[in-house]
Amino acid sequence: MARKTLIAGNWKMNLNHLEAIALVQKIAFSLPEKYYAKVDVAVIPPFTDIRSIQTLVDGDKLLLTYGAQDLSPHDSGAYTGEVSGPMLAKLGCTYVIVGHSERREYHNEGDELVNKKVRAAIKHGISPIVCVGESLEVREAGGHVDHGCTQLIAALKGLKAEQVKEQVVVAYEPIWAIGTGRVATPADAEEVCKALRETLADKYGTEVADEVRVLYGGSVKSGSVGELVACENIDGGLVGGASLQADEFTKLCAMA
Ligand code: PEP
Repeated sequence: MARKTLIAGNWKMNLNHLEAIALVQKIAFSLPEKYYAKVDVAVIPPFTDIRSIQTLVDGDKLLLTYGAQDLSPHDSGAYTGEVSGPMLAKLGCTYVIVGHSERREYHNEGDELVNKKVRAAIKHGISPIVCVGESLEVREAGGHVDHGCTQLIAALKGLKAEQVKEQVVVAYEPIWAIGTGRVATPADAEEVCKALRETLADKYGTEVADEVRVLYGGSVKSGSVGELVACENIDGGLVGGASLQADEFTKLCAMA
């Protein structure tokens, strides 16, 4: 089955809820309804913006989807500062980013915690966008393919094939490309995305691997997205900086 392209904008810690409303309105205004037959578009704002976006999307029956940048592995309880899967599900989140390199680096999130978060998302019907990717050091040593595949296997530990097939999105995000302006070449990105899909095939079968969307993320812009998504194993983009400007983001979506 053909995989539908997904462009997801990771806003990181940018835009308050009023700025979020303005940006979503501009995106919605610029992308005609028929566009969504070809491509899924999601915005992934900070937690504080999600309720406003939900209201806008529901009220105006927008086809745009949205999600969160993190979730707690726990459902509820004494976990000050955390936001749970049930809370995000109630807010209508379709996606949640798990294992982003910024969380791995600044919050010491390891493979075990990433796995717990992936399971928490799936339990509550939210698709985890599971991020994997190597540092420059690992790439220069030639370990990039192994690194991404090992992170992926660890992130999905304990999931059933059906859950992987129906809910998981994978994002290959080389750390050296994130926020640096240094986008991976289509050949470099495709090499790892293909290996990630083969890993899924080995573990869960080709029927599952053929359905799972594998995105590329790392300095994607409107000028580079076309040749990236033209690769056989790249099904869209996880976009940081370029998702914060309506004009650039909608242009990028249109080129995908
Ligand atoms: C990201 O943080 O997921 C990302 C891909 O950022 P950027 O597009 O800014 O490199």
